[in-house]
Amino acid sequence: MTKMRRQCHWLGIWTSVWSFACAPPSLNRIEDGHLTYEYSDGLAPCGGTPAYLRRSAMFVAEHLGAPSPRPARFSWLSTEDRNQLPGRPTDHADVAVGAHAKSYKPYEQHELVHVSITKASAPFFVEGLAVAFGPLANEASSLHPLGVPEDPRPKIAAWPVAAADYSTAGRFVQYLLALHGPEAFMAFYVALGPPWNKASIEARFESEFGTSLDEEVALFMDRGGYPENCVFDVQPMDCGAPPLAPEGNVWGLSRVLSCESDDVVGGEGADLLWRNFIVRTVDIDQEGDYRLSAFGDSGGGVRLAACFGCPWGRQETFTEASTESTTHLLEGRYYVRMSAYPGEALDVGFVLQRTT
Ligand SMILES: [Zn+2]
Repeated sequence: MTKMRRQCHWLGIWTSVWSFACAPPSLNRIEDGHLTYEYSDGLAPCGGTPAYLRRSAMFVAEHLGAPSPRPARFSWLSTEDRNQLPGRPTDHADVAVGAHAKSYKPYEQHELVHVSITKASAPFFVEGLAVAFGPLANEASSLHPLGVPEDPRPKIAAWPVAAADYSTAGRFVQYLLALHGPEAFMAFYVALGPPWNKASIEARFESEFGTSLDEEVALFMDRGGYPENCVFDVQPMDCGAPPLAPEGNVWGLSRVLSCESDDVVGGEGADLLWRNFIVRTVDIDQEGDYRLSAFGDSGGGVRLAACFGCPWGRQETFTEASTESTTHLLEGRYYVRMSAYPGEALDVGFVLQRTT
């Protein structure tokens, strides 16, 4: 960890206009492989946060067929430090500029995708890719609610980025990835050069996917067009978590969500608008009914979700602390995330056991 001093100074401009210029705020720094993690004074990232972001960026890059994520910088900023940034993000808004993400939370998967994966593409698809692997990707039912999806065509040439319809973009990008695979999608993504108008996007779409945008959207918007089988399982980044070994046919973990632990992700700061968590993967090798028991302080809970299958309708369940649920699991990898708001619930745990 190193520390950079803040250096603010007045600059005289030859036009005799004085301008106040300020170097980046003083931040604490942790170097973790290709990821540089920074945070303001007064904030305390949990021990597993930088490694989670590094591992997640690696997972998404490999998943998309990229050899490795580009070196990236993630800054968790206090309100005071955010207010001093030129062109600062508005309150409770995150931002990514080049390979540098700035966030008001200790982790933010959406911005991580932006800074790890090349951004040169049409804004609709840049945002769509970040949503496809961002927080909503961990909750399939949130990103793919029942009902007819929005028609992406009126939004597809949106400019600037803020005009893009994030959830429609995320749904459509997941759809394209699942139906055509990462190789075809990424070839289309990087081939999209400016100007990003509708005509040029339509032409590139047809030449890369071999079908017209109109035909693809017609299938996408037909609920029956969400096919049962995909050529590619778009996995949430939590599927890159370390595996948890079973004891017999029982998986279990009981922990204190203490920030000192090196596998707790999150942090302690003033805003407390995020959940701290521990995430692991479990490999189910026998299909059957399983009971998921969550225990610990109220406010905590356990999410179990499949890492396979089409991203819509993907199997998932959230079990609150002190409750249990029974679910039918197929063979394959699942992720288990135990989480709680910092300061609300410290003890969390789960047991997953086959019942039939
Ligand atoms: Zn974004």
